[in-house]
Amino acid sequence: MSAPPEDNALPPGTTGVVAVDLDRLAANWRALSNLVGPADCAAVVKADAYGLGADRCIPALARAGCRSFFVATTAEAMEARRLAPDAAIYVLDGLLPGSAPALAAIGAVPVLSSLLEIRACAEFARTTKAKPAVALHVCSGLNRLGLSAGDVEVLSLAPEQLSGLDVSLVMSHLASADAVDDPMNAAQLKAFERLRSLLPAARASLAASDGMMLGPAYHYDLARPGYALYGGQPSRTLRAPVEPVVSVYARILQIRDVPTGASVGYSGIWRAERPSRIATIAAGYADGVPRIATGGPVRVDGVNYPVVGRIAMDQMVIDLGPLNVSAGGRSVLGAEAVLFGNGDDGGPTAEDWARAAGTNNYEIVARISPRVPRRYINEELPRDESRP
Ligand SMILES: *Cc1c(COP(=O)(O)O)cnc(C)c1O
Repeated sequence: MSAPPEDNALPPGTTGVVAVDLDRLAANWRALSNLVGPADCAAVVKADAYGLGADRCIPALARAGCRSFFVATTAEAMEARRLAPDAAIYVLDGLLPGSAPALAAIGAVPVLSSLLEIRACAEFARTTKAKPAVALHVCSGLNRLGLSAGDVEVLSLAPEQLSGLDVSLVMSHLASADAVDDPMNAAQLKAFERLRSLLPAARASLAASDGMMLGPAYHYDLARPGYALYGGQPSRTLRAPVEPVVSVYARILQIRDVPTGASVGYSGIWRAERPSRIATIAAGYADGVPRIATGGPVRVDGVNYPVVGRIAMDQMVIDLGPLNVSAGGRSVLGAEAVLFGNGDDGGPTAEDWARAAGTNNYEIVARISPRVPRRYINEELPRDESRP
C-alpha cells in the first residue's frame, strides 16, 4: 500500500495535486488480465488516460505487458503511438474526414461504426493500394455507435464491401453491465453473437470494465477495461480485483472563525448555526470539483468535514465544527486536505463525491482539470518526477 504524499510532497507553489500510483495501475492491469485469461486484456486510455496522464500511464501499462490500447481520437492515437511504438492502437471514434492518412501513417486501427466509414476506408485503401487493419463496431443495443443489424445484413449480402480491408476485430459495447442481473446483458450477448456470425471471422471484444465482471461468456478474445484499471469499481455489486490508483489533494488556504449567523460563500446558501471554525480549500469547479457538490467530504488530519456554501471557481469552504473542536495540530496555511483517495482509512472516495454531485464516480475522476498537477508515485522510470 502506498502512503499518501507528505505535506512537502505537494509540489512547491502548487495549490493541489493528483497523485497517481503507477505500480498500482500496472498491478490492476495484471489482475484484470488474469481475470479474463486466456482472453487478452487491452487498456482504454482515452481522454488522457481518464485524466491521469497518458504520457505516464501508457508506458507503465506497456511495461506491465499490455499490447493493445483503445483511444477515442486521432490526436490521442498519435500520442499513444509515440508512447507505445509496438502496440495495437484502436481509435473508438473511427474515421473522421481527413483522418485516414494520419491513422494509416501510424498504423492505428480505426473502429468503424457505419457503412459510410467502411466505404471511406475502402476508398482510402484503394487509392493507397493498402489493406489497412480495421475494427468493426456493431451495435448490440447501446444505440450510441456501431453498425445496426440492418447494416450488418447489408455487409453479409455484399461482403465485397470489406474485401479491401483487414477486419482484425469485431466489437460491441454493453449498456448496463454495471448491473449484473440486468436482462440487457444477456440480450446484448445474444445480439453480438448473431451479428458477429454474419461478418468475416475476426477476434471479438465485448466487455469494458463492468462487462468483465459478468463472467467468461463476456470475455471473448479481448477485454477493454478503462475505469477499473484506474482503480474504480465498475459494478454496483461485484468487486473488481483492483486497488485505487488516484488520490487528490488540495491545500488549505485559510482557517477562520465565524460567529453564529455568518454566511459563507456566494449567495449565502449556508449560515453558521453556531460559532464555527471553517477552512478554505484551494480547489473549485475550475479544478473539476462539481459546483453542485456542496456537502462533499474533505479530509483534514484524519477527519472528514463537509463542504459548506457554494463551491467557487478556485476555492471551497469546509466546516471544521464548533470552535471548541480542535482542527488538528497540522491545519496550518498550506497544509494538505484530501479530496479523495483510496478510502482505506475512512477517507473520502470518488464515490462519496459522486453521491454529493448526483453523478457517477467516472465523471468525478475524468473531470479533474489539467490545472491540477499530476504527481506520479512508484514509477519505475524516471522516479518520483512531477509534471506538468
Ligand atoms: C470508454 C470505453 C471503454 C472503457 O470503459 P470502462 O467502463 O471505463 O472500462 C470500453 N469500450 C468502449 C467502446 C468505450 O467507449
